[in-house]
Amino acid sequence: MDIFDEIYRGTPPWDIGRPQKAFIELAGRGEIRGSVLDIGCGTGEHALFVAGAGHEALGIDTAPLAIQKAREKAAERGLPARFLVGNVLNLSGLNGRFDTVIDSGLFHTLSDKDRPVLAESLATVLAPGGRYFMLCFSDRNPGEYPLPRRIAMVEIRDTFQDGWSIDYVRPAVFENTVQADGHLAWLASISRKAQE
Ligand code: SAH
Repeated sequence: MDIFDEIYRGTPPWDIGRPQKAFIELAGRGEIRGSVLDIGCGTGEHALFVAGAGHEALGIDTAPLAIQKAREKAAERGLPARFLVGNVLNLSGLNGRFDTVIDSGLFHTLSDKDRPVLAESLATVLAPGGRYFMLCFSDRNPGEYPLPRRIAMVEIRDTFQDGWSIDYVRPAVFENTVQADGHLAWLASISRKAQE
């Protein structure tokens, strides 16, 4: 069974019951445009948030229990976000084109080998000129703990090379239910180049 599905029997620390502040601010700056795909959506707070702001929204996660919870929230809140069980490392089967992709806490769960696979997969669904917004744990976090890994800026840059341009990678915070100040994070904005 999917380890994450097991974790979603309870409420994991990242499942804060609202969108991450970093994405609320991003939306406030008008950076989220058009149709939105939320990869590794968990229980759906980010897809629901953008659906509430009028965007077409689809959330994808491998954990069936997370998707079930997300669908329940959509029904309770009367929001039109859609949710699918699926692997974001192979999005080509979606046959979809999105203007914006949101990733809150997925990228830092991937192995070294899977990061370039994600970039290839995203290229199949992100419209030319579309943007991928990613919030991950950063290597600025002090202390020793094994997982999830902390991402160095260079690892983000190495993953998105051909066909991508990095708009910015900025210090941010990843909120959780156990630490008042959250984890130190990076917020990256990465654009799919218009010419293929
Ligand atoms: N975005 C959510 C969940 C973050 S936790 C939130 O902010 O609350 C990371 C999520 O990525 C988990 O729900 C996990 O099930 C999902 N995930 C990990 N690898 C995945 C993959 N290859 N495809 C789809 N989802 C994946």
